[in-house]
Amino acid sequence: MIKENVQRILKELPEGVELVAAAKTRSPGEILEAIDGGIKIIGENYLQETLSVFKVIERRVKYHFIGHLQKNKVKKAVKIFDMIETVDSLEIAEKIDKRCNQIGKIMPLLIEINSGREKQKFGVFPEMAERLIKDISSFKNIKIMGLMTMGPRLGNPIESRPYFIETRKIFERIKALNLPRVEMRYLSMGMTNSYKIAISEGANMVRIGTKIFGERDDD
Ligand SMILES: *Cc1c(COP(=O)(O)O)cnc(C)c1O
Repeated sequence: MIKENVQRILKELPEGVELVAAAKTRSPGEILEAIDGGIKIIGENYLQETLSVFKVIERRVKYHFIGHLQKNKVKKAVKIFDMIETVDSLEIAEKIDKRCNQIGKIMPLLIEINSGREKQKFGVFPEMAERLIKDISSFKNIKIMGLMTMGPRLGNPIESRPYFIETRKIFERIKALNLPRVEMRYLSMGMTNSYKIAISEGANMVRIGTKIFGERDDD
């Protein structure tokens, strides 16, 4: 099932759109099935879970961090992850830079945009994104490679469209600035319910969990 789900999604994705399998709560066995179907990147929300997945899967896939990164987890996280998609403050970027410097790594990262401007949610507000990116871009051991957004959790995925459009606009604007050490390549938006809309609004990286692995017990 999981393997076929992945194959079906991969077949319908337009050229140039990367599929991240959002793997929170999934076992290494389930993830292996997804890899069998053609998954090259998994997205993980929790470091602890990733460590147990890593024991089995090792470097067979790329690991993207898509959860909220706590400062005290950065040291371990930078060793395992190939990209951190959820950077939203100078402080966390500084920590990532410092830890990457210690292990001689340059970490690709995406800036998370709080496109719904929701107080309780993570991500930088749209109007603060440019300032943050300029500040972060001076760090030598990280590389900004684009933006990520979740958008508000809505009843009808069609309602996500304005949030994707807004994030796309920020993406294009920052790309046009040609900032040194910033390479705006990835726009990560869209999940099971909303990825088709996200792609139509310019996403070239989608994070899909439920449609690959089935419903999660936790929600
Ligand atoms: C869980 C998760 C997803 C995938 O959600 P589904 O609705 O299961 O496809 C995408 N992005 C993030 C950040 C997630 O935590």
